Amino acid sequence: MPIHEKSLIRPEDLVEGSGEAHIIDGVDVSGHWSTFIKSRVVKDYNEDMEAEIAALPGGEFIHRCWQCGSCTNACTVNAINPDFNPRYWIYLIRTGMEEELLRDKDIIWQCVSCHKCSYTCPRDVLPEGVMKATAHWLELKGHTPKSHSTVFDEVFAEQVIKTGKIEEGRVLRRFLTRTGQPLLQGWVLTMALRMIRHFPIKLMIHMGLANFIHPRTSGWGRARAAIEEYVEEQEAEHRKALKLDQPAE
Ligand code: SF4
Ligand code: SF4
Repeated sequence: MPIHEKSLIRPEDLVEGSGEAHIIDGVDVSGHWSTFIKSRVVKDYNEDMEAEIAALPGGEFIHRCWQCGSCTNACTVNAINPDFNPRYWIYLIRTGMEEELLRDKDIIWQCVSCHKCSYTCPRDVLPEGVMKATAHWLELKGHTPKSHSTVFDEVFAEQVIKTGKIEEGRVLRRFLTRTGQPLLQGWVLTMALRMIRHFPIKLMIHMGLANFIHPRTSGWGRARAAIEEYVEEQEAEHRKALKLDQPAE
């Protein structure tokens, strides 16, 4: 019988005995003799999962992983939540264990993009990118709602594509509005006060005016058209890789 490390088994998959005392020849042998691991039946194997995630930005090098665990060992989030395990998720993706991966769908987005995993990975898998691609895959497949991080990316990209400029104040205002958050929050006020104290007055006036004037980079029209075409192509490719436009069987 194989020996399993208990910490790697989900508690709901462990069946333990009644806890009654077992005395044999006067020796107390009660404990965990009658502990069983429920057999797993894989009924949702998704043989395309690795290819689907590899088709999204950041997931390209997932095939290089040799499961050394250095990424998880270095991970900032894993240090405070052992369930956050990039190595394990890469294993599940590569073996097509979709149902098992979905059990952790609500924590995968928690990656803080510190890149410690990518720095330490001996195979240049770029696990940070894989985490991003996986979170994106979960959203595209409808397993998780759009995260605030995705909404921020959308607001940021929309503005850059439209105007050729980054106006931080406007990005922040739109992000807060689109995610249903109040414009005046403690951290926003603290940041504004610090900016007033430390930023040059000219820059502050520029940032304030940008909320109303919406400055644009001159001659941006052609660049915008090319970027929009590229984004459209990429989104179509991602939808194709994930078979999102195919009618349900
Ligand atoms: S550090 Fe790299 S090779 Fe090692 S498990 Fe993580 S992703 Fe795979
Ligand atoms: S980038 Fe994400 S997965 Fe990588 S170490 Fe940081 S928190 Fe962990």
